[in-house]
Amino acid sequence: MPPRVRVEAERAEATKAWSFRNAYAGIIGLGERIENLSLSDAQGVEIAARKLAAGEYEAARAATKISYELKLDPPRGTNDTAHASWLTVTRGVLMPGDLLPLPSARARLSLTLPAQWKVATVETRNGGGQYEIEDAESSIFFVGADLRQTQTRVSGMELTFATAGEWAFADEAVVRLVRDIVERHARINGSLPRNALILLAPFPQTADASRWSAETRGGTVFFLSGRSPSKAAGLARLSVPLAHEILHLWIPNALALSGDYAWFYEGFTVYQSIRVSVELGYLTFQDYLDSLARAYDNYLAQREQDKHSLIEASARRWGGSSGLIYHKGMLVAALYDLTVRQQSRGKRGLDDVYRSLFRQQRTGFEKREGNATVIATLNRVAGGGDFSKRYIESASPLDLAAALGAFGLKLERNRASTRINVADSISRPQRDLLRQMGYN
Ligand SMILES: [Zn+2]
Repeated sequence: MPPRVRVEAERAEATKAWSFRNAYAGIIGLGERIENLSLSDAQGVEIAARKLAAGEYEAARAATKISYELKLDPPRGTNDTAHASWLTVTRGVLMPGDLLPLPSARARLSLTLPAQWKVATVETRNGGGQYEIEDAESSIFFVGADLRQTQTRVSGMELTFATAGEWAFADEAVVRLVRDIVERHARINGSLPRNALILLAPFPQTADASRWSAETRGGTVFFLSGRSPSKAAGLARLSVPLAHEILHLWIPNALALSGDYAWFYEGFTVYQSIRVSVELGYLTFQDYLDSLARAYDNYLAQREQDKHSLIEASARRWGGSSGLIYHKGMLVAALYDLTVRQQSRGKRGLDDVYRSLFRQQRTGFEKREGNATVIATLNRVAGGGDFSKRYIESASPLDLAAALGAFGLKLERNRASTRINVADSISRPQRDLLRQMGYN
């Protein structure tokens, strides 16, 4: 029998329209997982329900109670595994956002699990043992028989690390890595006011050691990784994607910004996570240059590389522009960081943009438009708007060789493969700049 959950729910207001999430982050057909749905009124009298479309039902009269089953087989490919609920015989992830009727809002949830299964979540339980969920959309429950949890306090934040399955490295080594990353992000962005949960799980499917898939909702980072046979390589491989996902706890999750500005919260996050991994000693300066080179190859391979500005690409993220957001966005972040550091002789850099954003726009402040606010902050820290006009607001091509030359870096392209190295002769200010980035 395929893995499934049974849901029994009751809502405060009676309604005839019952709908469930059908699409999320490029996954379509979530509504097709629903079976044996039945509706009833507050007295328990059954009400006929008609299926209108995947995940859309209409009741003959207003109903308050619903029961249904969900088939939760893991997705076939590894790409989507972090973005929706799934279940196997040993463990699973339950995301109320795709399990409960919409609109997802506050909910009170009881879980009935097989004996010996444990739960990892940031949600808190009331005296009756029910989870009080503030926002079903950003809630995640990881469940399983072999779940292990470590609680730790970092920079004033309560942090829980939870994992399952066998890894080449000890749990303590990942906890140390996670602590290092959280500490570094908190130093720049400030501490988060809430508990954070970092979940590391093996894929439910067979997957290459280098594969990963992740999703950050509210205060939870859900991270799936392939298993590397080597301890050191496994941890180094985790450092960049973990630094990336953990940064999402702050950006965009703790910023009062609206709209599609993924060029910043994804593209710039890719760059920042590499910088953080170099700073923490998990990557070398040459790894930093290699990741710029790889991003450049990927950028040049994009079909529509210079048809859209980063802002336009962010607005059509699920329409095929996501490569541009990540690869060009990452390179633009690098150029911004290097340019500002060079112009200010190392006094300012990208970190100041994050610092300033969190000072003005953390959650709780009045919401502002993401693109305009981030660009205004970039311009303020850079001391002008030329950079963002050229690289973010317009669709101009990126000539990385020319741009990097100014920083004492040389770029060589051999067929479809780029190499970036320190130039043969560099000036003293260039050497000072590259030293800040880890060169010695
Ligand atoms: Zn991301």
